[in-house]
Amino acid sequence: MRSRIFTFALSLVVYSGYAQRSAPDVIPTGMGPLTIQPVMHASLVLSLKGLVIYADPSGGIAKFKGLPAPDLILITDIHGDHFDSATLAAVVTANTILVVPQVVADKLTAFDKKRLVVLKNGDHTDRRGIGISAIPMYNLPESPTAMHTKGRGNGYVLGIGGKKIYLSGDTQGIPEMRALKDIDVAFVCMNLPYTMDVNEAADAVLAFKPKVVYPYHYRGQNVQQFKKLVDAGNKGIDVRLREWYPGNL
Ligand code: ZN
Repeated sequence: MRSRIFTFALSLVVYSGYAQRSAPDVIPTGMGPLTIQPVMHASLVLSLKGLVIYADPSGGIAKFKGLPAPDLILITDIHGDHFDSATLAAVVTANTILVVPQVVADKLTAFDKKRLVVLKNGDHTDRRGIGISAIPMYNLPESPTAMHTKGRGNGYVLGIGGKKIYLSGDTQGIPEMRALKDIDVAFVCMNLPYTMDVNEAADAVLAFKPKVVYPYHYRGQNVQQFKKLVDAGNKGIDVRLREWYPGNL
């Protein structure tokens, strides 16, 4: 009896871990349906039949429980909410390719160089059928002492079966973001003092007009206000508010 109670209690713990995660969204692409799974803060998982992409896996292996292992991992920057060596080591497999800026590669000296792809802002690579372009991400005004200096980290635009997916990384509403074209799905950061406020984020999103936008990396911010501003400026942009802080972590 005691073991049955214990098993039941354990299943509740495991189940609650799953239950708190937002249900995934699915969008059609030329490579088949693309599943979009918010995980936490800046961490997310994109999956297609036979291909799984993690972005900025951090916060511990438990956050990724029940999700398929990654074929590709994209890392935007060095801070712990983006590059978390313990979580990375726990999720990576013998076949995973890592796409990183140089500053992250410098911290991965023990990783198999053949599976490490270093991109700088403006670079492009094709991996496992996915186009990957590195986009600047930085704070304004530019300063050598800014939390995010231009050229260090990468945002990414992914080309997946004819769809363009943008991951902002940690940035403000920089000209390079505002000039993006034909983005189908955008993940845009908004938190102070690290990136930008919801007003600046909404203004930037209204400039590049993605078809769908997910606020992410927004701990403590009023994303309802972001949605209100974007809706008021352009009803054609689908603002998707999801749970990026399961259990308020
Ligand atoms: Zn961050």
